[in-house]
Amino acid sequence: MTTSPSSPPDRARRRVTVLSGGVGGARFLQGLARVPGWGDEVTVVANTADDLWMHGLKICPDLDTVMYTLGGGIDPERGWGRTDETWHAKEELAAYGVEEAWFGLGDRDLATHLVRTRMLDAGYTLSAVTEALCARWQPGVRLLPMTDDRVETHVAVPDDQAPSGKRVVHFQEYWIRLRAAVPALAVVPVGIDAATPAAGVVEAITEADVVLLPPSNPVVSIGTILGVPGVRQALAATSAPVVGLSPIVAGTHVRGMAHQLLESIGVEVSAAGVAEHYGARSAGGLLDGWLVDTVDAALVERVRATGMACDAVPLMMTDHDATAAMARAALALVGLGA
Ligand code: GDP
Ligand code: CA
Repeated sequence: MTTSPSSPPDRARRRVTVLSGGVGGARFLQGLARVPGWGDEVTVVANTADDLWMHGLKICPDLDTVMYTLGGGIDPERGWGRTDETWHAKEELAAYGVEEAWFGLGDRDLATHLVRTRMLDAGYTLSAVTEALCARWQPGVRLLPMTDDRVETHVAVPDDQAPSGKRVVHFQEYWIRLRAAVPALAVVPVGIDAATPAAGVVEAITEADVVLLPPSNPVVSIGTILGVPGVRQALAATSAPVVGLSPIVAGTHVRGMAHQLLESIGVEVSAAGVAEHYGARSAGGLLDGWLVDTVDAALVERVRATGMACDAVPLMMTDHDATAAMARAALALVGLGA
């Protein structure tokens, strides 16, 4: 934090903290960066429960998606991984028969994982490694992993061969190899109860001028960040308003798989269902405000009835201007902004 508590309340740069997953969070951040006065001092608390070890390398999909997207290195079509990527290492691994065929490990991307793993091996925390990687990418935000501890989302899926009738796979395998096409019987963030927030995470929430929940996955992105002991308490304690934007539009996710995972945790797959899942701060929940898409305008009254502010605005992140308008609407909902 560079801003002291004695800074005048009308200072031009506001401290914004965003709890982010990968693609949905990163796209939202691109819009926020274009909001004058509010896009300059952004701290991103990124989900790390998607992280996995593969070929001895530590891979952090959501941290890298945010870093590459804001740093100009993302492949715009795929939405993940590096631009101008090649796949020679993956092909060579396949030739040895040791490839994890479902995981897209590009040659350029591999360098990031090599640097990260080498630094972790040398004893640096994931926070320190992330800071070092961002020194190259200059994402224009302070990027923090939610925790330096190992947390991994695992998903129980049906398996006729197993005595229990199910088996457990890493979330990445559920999403990429199984394409979220089988039921998620349970979603378990392994290790989360013993995790502690990374340095700066709690302060970023308690000292912010506003906390934003972008339209990231409520279960495996935002849900896991909220599951790190201390994060919910920080959100309850902060004097900053907490505002979210619905990842569910017209009863389904826009891209990704929020749909399947919400069903698996028993949350109604609607913009109102997710708002009720998070809950109003005035009623012991998380949110002061929630935006739904204009197609879901009929749900606004139901969300307001929970005790939070709610409006319907266009929520499709089609381009940077549309996304910046979403960020401005989130601020305006709680009386902030230009
Ligand atoms: P991931 O980690 O890459 O899955 O990304 P996030 O968790 O940050 O965001 C994924 C979620 O973003 C998806 O489940 C969608 O529901 C949501 N999403 C993606 N694009 C849009 C969009 O244009 N508008 C809205 N409202 N939600 C979106
Ligand atoms: Ca993710």
